[in-house]
Amino acid sequence: MLIVQKYGGTSVGSIERIRSVAAKVAASKAKGNQVVVAVSAMSGVTNNLTAMAHELQKEPSPREMDVLLTTGEQTTIALLCMALLEIGCPAISFTGGQVRILTDNAHTKARIQEIDDTNIRRELEQEKVVVVAGFQGVDEKGNITTLGRGGSDTTAVALAAALKAEECQIYTDVDGVYTTDPRVVEKARRLDRITFEEMLEMASLGAKVLQIRSVEFAGKYDVPLRVLSSFEDGPGTLIGSEDESMMETPLISGIAFTRDEAKLSVVGVPDVPGMAYKVFGPISDANIEVDVIVQNIGADQTNDITFTVNKKDAEAAARILESVARDMGAKGVEVDENVAKLSLVGVGMRSHAGIASRMFEALYSESVNIQLITTSEIKISVVIEEKYLESAVRALHTAFELDQEKQ
Ligand code: ADP
Ligand code: ASP
Ligand code: MG
Repeated sequence: MLIVQKYGGTSVGSIERIRSVAAKVAASKAKGNQVVVAVSAMSGVTNNLTAMAHELQKEPSPREMDVLLTTGEQTTIALLCMALLEIGCPAISFTGGQVRILTDNAHTKARIQEIDDTNIRRELEQEKVVVVAGFQGVDEKGNITTLGRGGSDTTAVALAAALKAEECQIYTDVDGVYTTDPRVVEKARRLDRITFEEMLEMASLGAKVLQIRSVEFAGKYDVPLRVLSSFEDGPGTLIGSEDESMMETPLISGIAFTRDEAKLSVVGVPDVPGMAYKVFGPISDANIEVDVIVQNIGADQTNDITFTVNKKDAEAAARILESVARDMGAKGVEVDENVAKLSLVGVGMRSHAGIASRMFEALYSESVNIQLITTSEIKISVVIEEKYLESAVRALHTAFELDQEKQ
C-alpha cells in the first residue's frame, strides 16, 4: 500500500519528537507499505521567521518571504531523514522544487498546478521512505513559492492524489477532528467520520485543524483523509464522501468559530439604487474579501449596510468607506473589531427545520446578543461580541447534544 503521512509543527517540534516520528514512519514501512512523508517546519519556526521579516520591512517582499519561510520545512526534512537513517530505515529528502511541485506564481498563497511523481516513484522503488517539504513549491520560472499558512496539509493531500495513495494520514497534536476546538471546549467529542463538505465548512469557518485547500483537494480527487494523533494510537477521524462515510446523519456535526473578523457599517445610506455597488466596488478593487453582509432600512428611510472583513483588512476597508460615505451622503462609518463569528455545521440541517430557532434560544439563554446572521444549506453563522464567544460555543455545544458523555 502507498500511504502519504503528514506531520505538523508540534509533531516535529523537537529532536526527541523527530525521533519518535521516525519510529512511526519506519513502523509503517516495516508493515510493507510504501511511505511518503510531508512535514511542516518545527513549531514556532514559521512565526519566528515571519517576525524577523517584519523587523526589516513593514510589508516584506512576497518573493523573499517565500525564500525565507521555506527554510523551516527544509530543516525538518533533513533532520527527519537523518533520524530515519540512524534507525536503519533508508530515506531521502526532497524540497518542493526537487520533487517538482509546480505552482502558480502567487507568492505566499500559491496554488499547486501539477506534481511530477517521477523522482518520488524512483526512490520508492528503491525501498526508500521519501520525505517531502510541506507548504512549498516552485513556479514555472523556478521561483520558490509557498501555499499559505497551514499549507503542508495541502502538500500531503496533493501528493496523495498525484500518487493515488490508499490514504492520506494527517498526524497532529489532537487525535482527530472534534465537534469543536478541544482546546476551548473541554467536552468536545472526537468524530469518527465527517464528510468533505462539512469539513470544508468547518475549516472555512475557522477550524484550523486542516487547511481549507487541503480539504477542497481531497474532496475533488476523492482522497480518503484521516486526522490522527502523532502522540498516541487511535482510529482518528476519517473525512470522506457523504454516502460511504455517514452511517446515520447527525443533525449537527460541529461548531466552528473565528476571532479573525471585524465588523464595518456605513450608516444612513440614502435609499436609492446603486448604493451597495458604491460601497462594495471599491472594497473589491482593493482586493478585500467580504464575508457576512446585512442591509436594513431604518426608521428615517435610510439604509445601514453592515459587513465583516478579515481583521487585517479592517483599517484599509474603513479608510475606503470614509470616502465612499462622504461621496454618497451617508451619515458615517462604524468599525467594531470586538466581534467573533460562530457557526453550526451539519449536512443533517438540510432535512430538519427548527435548527436556527434552537440556536437562537440557546444564545438567548446565555444573554448573548446576535449582531448578524447568515445561513447556507449546511451552516448557520452568527456574529456576536467577542467576549461571549467561549460561553456561546459551550452553550450551543450542550444545546445540540454534542457534549462528550462523562466517563
Ligand atoms: P499542525 O501543526 O499539526 O498542523 P494545527 O495547529 O494546524 O496542527 O491544527 C491542530 C489544532 O487545531 C489543534 O491543536 C486544535 O486546537 C485546533 N482545532 C480547531 N478546531 C478543531 C476541531 N474541530 N477539531 C480538532 N482540532 C481543532
Ligand atoms: N509551516 C507552515 C505554517 O506554519 C506550514 C504548515 O505548518 O503547514 O503555516
Ligand atoms: Mg496545521
